[in-house]
Amino acid sequence: MPMKKMPRPITDDAALLKFAKETAALLGPNCRTTGPEEGRCGRAVIVDDEGRALVVEREGDAKLTVTAKTDRVPSPRIGVSALSPAHVKDHICRRLYPLHARAVEEEQREKAAAARQRQARVAQEQRRTAAVFADRWSDEPFIALLADLLPCSAVEALAGVLQHLTNPGVVRRWLAAHSRGSAEMGYTAEDHFPLRGGESANAGTGKAAFVREWTSPDTVDDVAPLLDCCHLEALARYLDDFPGSDDAYAMRWRTVHVASNPDCHGLEYHGLAATQAPAAAQRAGVQ
Ligand SMILES: [Zn+2]
Ligand SMILES: [Zn+2]
Repeated sequence: MPMKKMPRPITDDAALLKFAKETAALLGPNCRTTGPEEGRCGRAVIVDDEGRALVVEREGDAKLTVTAKTDRVPSPRIGVSALSPAHVKDHICRRLYPLHARAVEEEQREKAAAARQRQARVAQEQRRTAAVFADRWSDEPFIALLADLLPCSAVEALAGVLQHLTNPGVVRRWLAAHSRGSAEMGYTAEDHFPLRGGESANAGTGKAAFVREWTSPDTVDDVAPLLDCCHLEALARYLDDFPGSDDAYAMRWRTVHVASNPDCHGLEYHGLAATQAPAAAQRAGVQ
């Protein structure tokens, strides 16, 4: 008649560590075992071949709990009799690993869902910023003020972006007002690409051209003093919102504008702290 197997007593931390090491050796050739650390009595940690951390804790002399750590709380945990390292190893493989796999899967699903939510929020914020920009920059007196002062490349880049954000009438007004001013140069509205068609298929190119033209120091220095605070701010936020845009672009617009427009509402209106403005202005080359 087989003898009933007795739990192997684990009476102290040294015995626990020995037991954990023997269990680890059965789990895989490269498992590492640490602990019990100072102040963490009754607890050893096995890091298995796949990098899972298994926390082995004493529950009295004859029983252990094994927790497979996950980022989510609570981590999956099993209780198991300390019959032998082989017995504990079997329970880890048979019961704990499947729990851990499910928990990790769930964790990844949650992380993916959170990332999707974050992306959706960012996209919504970008749409809102773009709508404000398009609205402000469709303003008729503003177009009349600015369009014929812009160089062709800058107005084309602006039109290329606006045609994706607002109705085609706005783009036509920009180009018509611009062409009146530059008529002596022989350009007409139709010479500017957005009215020739085809460009709308490639919003990315339009945006890249816009960022290039509208962050060039010449454009900033020439145009920033002419913009009122609202139009400037709508532009700066739109530039801020560009995926991968350099924060310095919007900062440069704001600092040049604040320094050079006597009617400006001031630093705080543009979200510039008095402490950061001088440094930003220096970077932007504003005296
Ligand atoms: Zn032109
Ligand atoms: Zn201002």
